[in-house]
Amino acid sequence: MSNAQRFPNRFVGRMPVPELGKVVDHPRNKPGSRADQHWGGLTTPEQMNKFISKFSLHSIEFGNWVRTGEREEAFENYNQALADLAYIMNVPQKDIGFNGKLSVSFGSRGRGTALATYYPGIHHINLTKTKGAGSLAHEYGHAIDFFPGRKQATPPSGGRSTIFVRRSHSGIAGLFDDVFQALLFNKDGSRTAFAKGLGGYSKYWRRREEIWARTFEAWVGWQARKKGRQSFFLHSRRYKSKVYPDQRLLEKADPYIRQIITRMVGR
Ligand SMILES: [Zn+2]
Repeated sequence: MSNAQRFPNRFVGRMPVPELGKVVDHPRNKPGSRADQHWGGLTTPEQMNKFISKFSLHSIEFGNWVRTGEREEAFENYNQALADLAYIMNVPQKDIGFNGKLSVSFGSRGRGTALATYYPGIHHINLTKTKGAGSLAHEYGHAIDFFPGRKQATPPSGGRSTIFVRRSHSGIAGLFDDVFQALLFNKDGSRTAFAKGLGGYSKYWRRREEIWARTFEAWVGWQARKKGRQSFFLHSRRYKSKVYPDQRLLEKADPYIRQIITRMVGR
């Protein structure tokens, strides 16, 4: 009996279930999801649970309009990309999900024209169905910043602030200052070409939280290349745009990025 037969239409209203062919979703979806209830395919609920516990995630969601084949592919991509991310960050796989607080989804949410979104209030990463691939590292950068479990109004990166001065914080926020210092200032205190370039972009591109997420994403891409673990679900193929720091700046920021990972991931 096919899954479409086992799970009749009544659960999903007017959704064309036989065409989408879905079985039961992971039951612990986060609030606000538009995840389906029923889907089929090769991935069993046991495999989903194994994936969730391997990375200590809260849950995984798939959107109403994600077909079975796309879902299988996204599931496998998440599985591989999160394993690669753990390898690149040099942390155990079980540290990825921040002790069961982080959840991930594919095509079950969406906001405006974003390719992918991190929802700080519920610690959730969504990648959109059509354009989300390649954005996982960026959103994970936001997750590190918001440090699931902590309840501060402003994340240690400085959030939406666009003000940059020399190291002015202690603790974790001070490590973010060190990253920005490495990216934006030369030894003599003058601004780097990267910092000058950002001046030509709108405020969004100069937000401290966004510079951090783009830096983390480009750092993951660089490390993946170095370690022979390129994963284009996790990061983009290249980071040529001026809104991304180049490899020389990443090398300067590298020790502080690693310290932030050690302090934040898995806690
Ligand atoms: Zn972002």
